[in-house]
Amino acid sequence: MGIEEKLPSGFMLTSVEHLAGYMRKSSLWPATFGLACCAIEMMTTGAPRYDLARFGMEVFRASPRQADLMIVAGRVSQKMAPVVRQVYDQMVEPKWVLSMGVCASSGGMFNNYAIVQGVDHIIPVDIYLPGCPPRPEMLINAILELHKQIQSMPLGVNRVAAVKAAEAAALAATPTSQMKGLLR
Ligand code: SF4
Repeated sequence: MGIEEKLPSGFMLTSVEHLAGYMRKSSLWPATFGLACCAIEMMTTGAPRYDLARFGMEVFRASPRQADLMIVAGRVSQKMAPVVRQVYDQMVEPKWVLSMGVCASSGGMFNNYAIVQGVDHIIPVDIYLPGCPPRPEMLINAILELHKQIQSMPLGVNRVAAVKAAEAAALAATPTSQMKGLLR
């Protein structure tokens, strides 16, 4: 978007990508957002013992307009789903989503009509974190993995090519309804 689309390809773009990625990963601001028990671990991660401030992201923003990372910490009820989507829509671009815990990622043990069976039904997820609940060390590890993704995020023509490749891979994937799992 904006100037990113007008960036030239080649050496210059690679340098800009590297610099932009470094700055973006070093200045992530998470939205203040917790849905269930996983949120307690997320709060602990921001506290002095684990100290998210080391990564420049101790400031959990109260307004989604000042946040670029959503940590979905806990199960998402059907009632909360539109709220989660609205908060996501109000966040600034570029933005990332971390699905924390099995409940957020797949509904977990709540295999029922009240809980969304995976937050990726309502918003795109960049990284999934397993566990019930994941410990703060695991959350920090997921954040560091997300940093790597952000650092290597393409821009300009490279981004257009990456989006096309991801779209082609998604279209070629087996639909979930045809997958054989434990419940089929
Ligand atoms: S994954 Fe476990 S700790 Fe996290 S919201 Fe679900 S039940 Fe709670």
